[in-house]
Amino acid sequence: MELSFHGADRGVTGSCHLLECGRRRLLVDCGMFQGSRELEEENSAALGFDPAALDGLLLTHAHLDHCGRLPLLAKGGFRGPILATAATRELARIVLQDAAHMAADDAAWRGRRAGGRAAAPLYTPQDVEAALALFAPPLRYGEERELGGGLRTSFHDAGHILGSAHVLVQSGARRVLFSGDIGGAGRPIIRDPAPPRAGIVVMESTYGDRRHRSPAESVRELVGVIAATLARGGNVVIPSFALERTQEILFSLRAAIAAGALPRHLPVFVDSPMAISVTEVYQRHPECFDEESAALVADGLDPFGFASLRLVRATSESIGLNRLSGGAVIMAGSGMCTGGRVRHHLVQNLPRPNASIVFVGFAAQGTPARRIIDGARSIRLFGEEVPVRAEVHTINGFSAHADQPELLAWHARAGGEERTVLVHGEPRAMEALAARLAPVPITMPAPGERLQL
Ligand SMILES: [Zn+2]
Repeated sequence: MELSFHGADRGVTGSCHLLECGRRRLLVDCGMFQGSRELEEENSAALGFDPAALDGLLLTHAHLDHCGRLPLLAKGGFRGPILATAATRELARIVLQDAAHMAADDAAWRGRRAGGRAAAPLYTPQDVEAALALFAPPLRYGEERELGGGLRTSFHDAGHILGSAHVLVQSGARRVLFSGDIGGAGRPIIRDPAPPRAGIVVMESTYGDRRHRSPAESVRELVGVIAATLARGGNVVIPSFALERTQEILFSLRAAIAAGALPRHLPVFVDSPMAISVTEVYQRHPECFDEESAALVADGLDPFGFASLRLVRATSESIGLNRLSGGAVIMAGSGMCTGGRVRHHLVQNLPRPNASIVFVGFAAQGTPARRIIDGARSIRLFGEEVPVRAEVHTINGFSAHADQPELLAWHARAGGEERTVLVHGEPRAMEALAARLAPVPITMPAPGERLQL
């Protein structure tokens, strides 16, 4: 058995691991590199293996940094199958089509910079459809599937986003577990991580050196900010990612309204066609829900809906929101304010001292979100300086990733006694986690490294 690493090695994006066993070659995830121009260049670089020689791909979940290079595999001659849960397959379609549109925008920008010469996008919507055609019938959690050559696989709750899975591959008595991204325990909507035991464990380590605030504390803080902003007559703008964070915030707002902590008539707008489509996928997959959400569904309630919620798809309706001078909660993308409708809401609300801007997700260096969080007095949007007079809040406990104590607890359940491989983390986080793990052989592979097992 041999493992090799082609992304998310001593970094957090581009997840891609190759397992070779006998004559079978299986890829686990094939994500996009993200974060800087330099990293993004990696997406068009050679994959490090021949896609046509792969016997299958096991996809842990639909985040772009795990599925974003699937269309490139298809373009490179990969013939499938792609194995994933039903929810992952539906979410991957939305995420990849969005990525194809962004790739077209990026190619147009590069073309203009190169003096008007047309640049080819990384991939097109047609390439995405070609990749989506390679999905095999979806797997249920716990179901075993034969992979040929004596190999079997099964997918297990990862508690990260809808449809997310830990992927177990078995060859006789040997068991290799790929964690994908690991969610924290007790998060709303989906079930907690449930790793099976395996001698060899390949695990993520994003927050290997950190502790999060609890989800319950974060919800209380969010509700408090909204109540205070309403009391002074302002709007609350929440820049949020379309996948997972929007649904988690909606879930929390519904619960707060039902409990009487927020007014029943509070106007809440989701101003993002992509977030609305993703929410519909969540609604279609109650088989992924935890007990609390399943109970809501059993009572005939929608975990993500309430009477005062408005979903805004049409651009004209989105522009109409500019007239809201106060008393509303507006969620829109992108989470880092680098694009999307949220920038219009920032133009309207940043100059208002009675408004609040609430950041609930990661904000990379250099993005407008980061500059606002770091206390900029004004930021540039649509070519104009917009003064920052609104209150700015960051609530960090909504992370979909396990923190250090949760990663340690996860590893204790999974085992990894034969070999534990740390991936998907910055070196500092990985080393902090490695120092705290049970005494097992640990590897932190470099990109391209091969590991004989
Ligand atoms: Zn993820």
